[in-house]
Amino acid sequence: MNRDLDVIVVGAGFAGLYLVHKMREQGRSVRAFEAGSGVGGTWFWNQYPGARCDIESMEYSYGFSEELEQSWVWDERYARQSEILRYINHVADRFDLRADIQLNTKVLSAHYVEAEPASNGVAGSSDAGAGRWQIKTDDGETWTGAFCIMATGCLSSTNTPNIPGLDSFAGEMHHTSRWPHEGVDFEGKRVGIIGTGSSGIQSIPVIAESALQLTVFQRTANYSIPAYNGALAEETRVAIKADYQAIRALNRERGAAFGINWGPPGGLTFDSTKAERLEAYERYWEMGGLGFLGVFEDILMDQRANDEISEFVRGKIRAVVDDPELARLLSPDHVLGCKRPCVDTNYYKTYNRDNVELVDVSEKAIDRITERGLVTGGREFEFDCLVLATGFDAMTGALHSIDIRGRQEQTLVDKWSAGPITYLGLGTNGFPNLFTITGPGSPSVLTNMVTSIEQHVDWIANCFDFMQGQGHATIEATREAEEAWVFHVNEIADETLYPTCNSWYLGANVPGKARVFMPHIGFPPYVEKCNEVVAAGYEGFDFSSA
Ligand code: FAD
Ligand code: NAP
Repeated sequence: MNRDLDVIVVGAGFAGLYLVHKMREQGRSVRAFEAGSGVGGTWFWNQYPGARCDIESMEYSYGFSEELEQSWVWDERYARQSEILRYINHVADRFDLRADIQLNTKVLSAHYVEAEPASNGVAGSSDAGAGRWQIKTDDGETWTGAFCIMATGCLSSTNTPNIPGLDSFAGEMHHTSRWPHEGVDFEGKRVGIIGTGSSGIQSIPVIAESALQLTVFQRTANYSIPAYNGALAEETRVAIKADYQAIRALNRERGAAFGINWGPPGGLTFDSTKAERLEAYERYWEMGGLGFLGVFEDILMDQRANDEISEFVRGKIRAVVDDPELARLLSPDHVLGCKRPCVDTNYYKTYNRDNVELVDVSEKAIDRITERGLVTGGREFEFDCLVLATGFDAMTGALHSIDIRGRQEQTLVDKWSAGPITYLGLGTNGFPNLFTITGPGSPSVLTNMVTSIEQHVDWIANCFDFMQGQGHATIEATREAEEAWVFHVNEIADETLYPTCNSWYLGANVPGKARVFMPHIGFPPYVEKCNEVVAAGYEGFDFSSA
C-alpha cells in the first residue's frame, strides 16, 4: 500500500467526508484517519437521548450535490442524531468514500519534515523529496502527505470536569459526547446530571421521562428557545427542494448563516416602539429556534437592547415553570447570545415534574464525587447513574491533543500558548501546507457549520488547483497576515457583547485555557475576505516551489 499521499485528512465527520470527496474529484490521493469506529464525527459520538440539530435539517445538510439534496428526505424539522448519522453514512456510501477512510485510527502526531530540494516542485505530486507532513497513528503506522488537513472538529474533544473523586463513582457514568451506542436504560434509576448547556438541555427532558428521579446540577442557567419540532410537512420539503440553491445562497447572506429563518436584518431595537418590539419578540419566539436571535440586528451590540430581549425570555420561563423560586433559578442573568443559546423540546416544562430536582451549584461548587453520588453544599446525593453534560475543550482541544510540529520542530501548542494564531482560520505561519477546517479565526461555530465546512473545503480545493497550475509546492500564511487577522477577529468581538460572559467561545470553560475570543463574527464579510485574498493572488500567503 502506498503510504505517501497527496492529502492526509484527520477526522471523518461532515468535514472529513467532504474533503475526501473533493480531493478525489481533483484526482489527488487522499486518506482520512478517524479515531471512531464509524464515520459521522459529532453525530457518531453524541448519541445521548434527545440529541438533534439546532439548525433546521433541510439546511443542516450538504449543498455540494444536487442529486443528494434532492433525493434525501428529512423526517423532522430538527433531525434527531440517528437520522443525521444515517444521512452521513448514506453520503459515505453514495460517493463511495469508505475506501479512503481508515476508521479506529487515532492520529498521534503530525510533523512537518523540512524540504530537501524537490525534483519537480509540483504541489500535490507524491515526490518524497519535497517537504512533507509525516503522521503517526496509534496502530504504529507512519504516513506522509504533501498536505495535512485537520478536520478534527471544533466540538470533539471532551471536557471532563476536574471534580475530586470523579473516578470513585461506583455506578454508571457517561459523558454526553461519549455516549454508549447501545443506549442507557434509565428506567427506575436515580440519575444525576451535571451541566445545562445544549447537551444537558436536550437530554434532561428525555431522561426525566424514564428515570425514577433526576437531579440536575446547574452552575449557570442558560437561555433556551423552543424548537417547536415536529414532522416536516411534505409541502415544506417540496418548496425548499424547488429552490434549494437559492435558499442556500440566501443563508450565506445571513450574518450568522444560521438558516433563512434568521429573517432579514430587522433594524435596530430602539427604532421600533415598545409595542412593536414586544410584538416582534413574540412573533419570532413563536417561529422557534435560533432565528429568534435575528429579531433585531443589535441584540449582541447594545446592552440595553439585550437587557430587554433577555427579560422577554425570562418572562417566558416564568410563564412555564410553576414554582417561582425554581423559575428564578432557571433564569439566566448573562447577555442573551454570548453563550450559545439552546433550542429545546419541553426543557423548562420538565421542572414541573415531581421526579426532577434542580440543584444550584453556582455559588457552592460540587465538592466531590463519591462512590455513591456527589456532595455539594453539605448535602450528599446518591445515584445509580451520573451524566456529565460538561461540554468540550472547544476549537483547539482536538488540535492540541495531536503532537503537531511545523518548521524547526515548533509545536502548535507552544505557538498557540496565548491563544490560537491563524490567518483566516485556515493556516498558521511556520506550519506550511497544514490547514484547519472551521479553525479558530473563522466563523465556524457561530454559523450553520455545514455551510462553513463547505466554504473551507472549496477554498482549499481551489487553492490546490491554483498551486498546481503555478508549480507551487508549499503555501504558508505570513506572520504579518496572521497577526493582523488575529487583531481583526478580536477587534470585531470587542465591539460586541460576546466577550462579556464565561463561554467556551472564549475558552473560559476549561481551567487554565487562554481567554481569547476564538471565532470570527460574521459569515458574509469573512467569505468576502477569503475571496478578496484569492483575487489578490492569495494575499497574506507565501508560496514556494520546493
Ligand atoms: P466532527 O463532527 O467533530 O468530526 C471530527 C472527527 O475527527 C471526529 O469524529 C473525531 O473522532 C475525529 N478526530 C479528532 N481528532 C482525531 C485524531 N487525532 N485522530 C483521528 N481522528 C480524530 N453545528 C451546527 O451547525 N448545527 C447543529 O445543529 C449542531 N449540533 C450539534 C450538536 C452536538 C451534540 C454537538 C456536539 C455539536 C453540534 N454542532 C452543530 C457542531 C458540529 O460539531 C458541527 O456541525 C459538525 O458536525 C462538525 O463536523 P466536523 O467534521 O468539522 O467535526
Ligand atoms: P456546554 O455548552 O459547554 O455546557 C456545559 C455545561 O456543563 C455548562 O452548563 C457548564 O456550566 C457545566 N459544567 C462544566 N463543568 C462543570 C463543573 N465542574 N461543575 C458544574 N457544572 C459544570 O457544552 P454542551 O452542552 O455539550 O454544548 C457545547 C456546544 O455543542 C453547544 O454550545 C453547541 O454549539 C453544540 N451542541 C449543540 C446541540 C444542539 O442543540 N444541536 C446540542 C449539544 C451541543 P458553565 O456554563 O457554568 O460553564
